[in-house]
Amino acid sequence: MNKKIKSHLSKINFILNRNPIIEKKKNWRKYIPEPYKAVVTITADFELAWAWRYSKNSPDPYKLAIEKAKRERENIPKILDLCEKFQIPITWATIGHLFLEKCERDKSGKAHPEIPRLNHFENEFWKYEGKDWYEYDPCSNYLDAPEWYAPDLIKMILDSKISHEIACHTFSHIDCRDEVCSPELFKAEIFECQKAASKFGVKLKSFVHPGHTIGNLDSLVPAGFLSFQTDNGNILGYPLKHKSGLWELKRSYEFSFRKEWNEKYHIYRYRKIIERAIKNHSVCNFWFHPSYDNIFQERIFPMILEYLQVNKKKVFISTVANYLNTISKRH
Ligand SMILES: [Zn+2]
Ligand SMILES: [Zn+2]
Repeated sequence: MNKKIKSHLSKINFILNRNPIIEKKKNWRKYIPEPYKAVVTITADFELAWAWRYSKNSPDPYKLAIEKAKRERENIPKILDLCEKFQIPITWATIGHLFLEKCERDKSGKAHPEIPRLNHFENEFWKYEGKDWYEYDPCSNYLDAPEWYAPDLIKMILDSKISHEIACHTFSHIDCRDEVCSPELFKAEIFECQKAASKFGVKLKSFVHPGHTIGNLDSLVPAGFLSFQTDNGNILGYPLKHKSGLWELKRSYEFSFRKEWNEKYHIYRYRKIIERAIKNHSVCNFWFHPSYDNIFQERIFPMILEYLQVNKKKVFISTVANYLNTISKRH
């Protein structure tokens, strides 16, 4: 479909309340803490180069990965400044490898020998047919290869005046689907994340599957996690509590720049989503890649945060773990 038509249809669907879809619930108060009318969480998938190295969208995924990592590094300090200015916390779904200051190969030349490997696979976003899952790991350190490690940025997040949350996005951005990832591999990835996070005094409570590759759900509660996130269309709705006690938080809308829309329309749309969440007593879970376009960072993101701040009395603005802990007492 022509991009212009697509963009026009998207605007119509938005006016008709079709995107995001609005779920209705009579007992919404169970999900919205008193005295608020809505909940907003913001989740950032913090991954630097790890997310893009097998991307199908680029003829040179490695180059894309490095570019994305560079942009993400530039954006994160600015994002943290804005969060302080507008008093908004973010849930940073962080790749475990980013906690490391350095890593090295063993005698046989293998990176992270203690972690099992994924076999070749393909999904909607990535195709892996390389020699080794860690073939791009520079096995260096954060000063020489800042695209693959980020203890400095994690420290910056933890030192912020705002209480952000550090969440888990696996150790090496794996595909977590049950048919691709064995429980042994999944558990080993989680264990490495927890080990690396504990050095920062961080306990990981919220999980985000890379590329929405939902799987290995049975391993999350035993590993101490409270929630995971799904992206089955954009939804202003309510989290779902699974029998295991694990919460499923639905993603509502991504922060990203669409070339077909002007700046003003972006601001209008994001603010309107918040307005609809307030009107319908919804939980809105925004999410984004901090490697997003500069124009979003400079011109649109601040306007969204400002609008949230203006509506602070109506909206419970929280990290994911804090929000779910708050409502867990009532479920
Ligand atoms: Zn490594
Ligand atoms: Zn990711």
